[in-house]
Amino acid sequence: MSDFSPVTPVALQIRKIIFEKFNDVDTKFTNDEIFEILKENNDVNPTWIVDDVESFFNEICDSGLTRNIAQNFTTIWLKLFDSIEKLHCNSCNNDIYLGKSEDRICPNPSCNSSI
Ligand SMILES: [Zn+2]
Repeated sequence: MSDFSPVTPVALQIRKIIFEKFNDVDTKFTNDEIFEILKENNDVNPTWIVDDVESFFNEICDSGLTRNIAQNFTTIWLKLFDSIEKLHCNSCNNDIYLGKSEDRICPNPSCNSSI
């Protein structure tokens, strides 16, 4: 199952979920909640557990989309720095979701074009 490749890059799926469900700077959400929705959407490796997506959450903290406000074992509580806007990347032809204060760079790891 390690050769599973998602239709939409996981980094973009996670941003879309935050945009749709948690796009409010006062709302706290966890990596577990996002991971549950990811699994329901059926476009991630079915063998994954929440630990397997940790790097994606580190990435959205490093990029300035979210901040890690608390952590308890594998659960990470997050908050947005700014609300998220939906944009479209013409280079990879994906809808993308960027925080208002993030660099205007496509978050698709195989694209990284300027928006
Ligand atoms: Zn792109």
